[in-house]
Amino acid sequence: MYSEITAAIQSAKTAIEIVKAAHGLSNHSELLSAVTAVQIKLTDAIASELASQEKQAMLAERVRELEKQISEVEDWKSQIQRYMLFQFPTGALAYALKPEQENGEPMHYLCTACVDKKKKTTLQPHGRGFHCPECKINITTKESSPININRGSHGGSWMSS
Ligand SMILES: [Zn+2]
Repeated sequence: MYSEITAAIQSAKTAIEIVKAAHGLSNHSELLSAVTAVQIKLTDAIASELASQEKQAMLAERVRELEKQISEVEDWKSQIQRYMLFQFPTGALAYALKPEQENGEPMHYLCTACVDKKKKTTLQPHGRGFHCPECKINITTKESSPININRGSHGGSWMSS
């Protein structure tokens, strides 16, 4: 990328030699064309230097972005390694905190849809299962309780008697 600058300096040297040889303005047109050549080469050199600075800044920015992405992926990996996919009796799935990975946290489950989006959303108890506050969905983890069925049949027997 410095070849243009080297060329410009070379042209400047040539121009100075012409001036030295001219001893005045007898070689005016030759001098003028030499100066013009130097100007053109300097302009090219500056343009190419600016472009290369721009390219370097872009590459540095890209490297920063990628480094950030890598650290995010590594951070996510270390966080999600503490969980495992768990299936409830209803077939519903959630990521459960592994028994040896509590780190002082109470047992909890993560929403699978959120984990797929690299988001850790703790499922909150709701009805016969859980609710994801992020996806606004409910998952049923417990089969309908036999107590409810008994209560229903009780009601029926009470009604018929
Ligand atoms: Zn969710």
